[in-house]
Amino acid sequence: MMDHRSRQNQFQQTLADDELDGFVVTHPANLRYLCGYTGSNGLLLFFGGSRIFFTDGRYTQQAREEVQDARIVITKGPLLNEAAKQFGRLRSAIGFEADHTTVTVAADMRKLVRKKTAWKPTSGLIMHQRMRKDAEELRIIRDAVKMGAAVYEQALPSIRAGVKESEVAGRLEFAAREAGADGMSFDTIVAAGRRSALPHGRASSQAIPKRGFVVVDSGVAWRGYCSDMTRTVHVGPVSREERRWYEAVLAAQLAGIAAVRPGMTAGEVDQAARHVLRKTKLDRFFTHSTGHGVGLEIHEPPRLGKQQEERLEAGMVITIEPGVYIPGKGGIRIEDMVVVTAKGCQVLTPVTKELIEI
Ligand code: ZN
Ligand code: ZN
Repeated sequence: MMDHRSRQNQFQQTLADDELDGFVVTHPANLRYLCGYTGSNGLLLFFGGSRIFFTDGRYTQQAREEVQDARIVITKGPLLNEAAKQFGRLRSAIGFEADHTTVTVAADMRKLVRKKTAWKPTSGLIMHQRMRKDAEELRIIRDAVKMGAAVYEQALPSIRAGVKESEVAGRLEFAAREAGADGMSFDTIVAAGRRSALPHGRASSQAIPKRGFVVVDSGVAWRGYCSDMTRTVHVGPVSREERRWYEAVLAAQLAGIAAVRPGMTAGEVDQAARHVLRKTKLDRFFTHSTGHGVGLEIHEPPRLGKQQEERLEAGMVITIEPGVYIPGKGGIRIEDMVVVTAKGCQVLTPVTKELIEI
């Protein structure tokens, strides 16, 4: 069972530290994290030490089944109007999620409250807490990663010359559904031959050519949590140059993993991976950041990119995924999920990184 109460209490402490009297949560991943609700049109209000969850009549049953540690109010009108009725006449500062609020909604919000109530835009308060995963989250993430790895290995035999990229993706996604996944955590990437040089080459109707790299980047969603992994295999004989590229990416990936420990900045881990590619003059083909946090959402902070100052802490779950993309020739990316531990990190993705030739 998820410990929503301690998550709420921890967030309540953040509100006190930031001198906020209340807070309105509407972003779905934050609602799920703080109170367990997985539907849409929900609002969790922190105010005066109490937590009230608002939704409309369509979600009555779902809210009763899912919402933990908050009083449930089913409303007829817009949720914000109902929530604003709680604020009363006292002077108060109410935080809201500026990153997830449209300009239109923000303008409407001002009309809902008396002069003494001040709306305070905030950014990343809940996300900051979500960066460090608790024990229950880590247990689910480990299972998600195992499931993601198993479905990749089930799809691997379908990779051969003449098979459409979309068919490989379809087999992988069918295996995920069969395994009981909620769905995919993002659109499956299968990029073969020259298309492997596209870092985000979604599976297309193009057939896998007779020779070249095939990049498969995929993940499942399991009980709300995302997995994310990439492996690059080769169809046909590997040239010496291609093997050199592959070995360089693998060395960069291992250097990135070796750099992960509490206290390191996200930028230092990125630098560790990038440095290896610089030595073989491949760094100019490494056009994205080294990794990102993963959890309820596929891309969460910290971002492991150049000059990122966020310090790693035990309990963070991140990807390490350097790649090189050589226009007109092909690309390679290798991605694992790792959890930051007290002294270093543990690699979660249980799939070989040896170059597989098909
Ligand atoms: Zn990925
Ligand atoms: Zn990723």
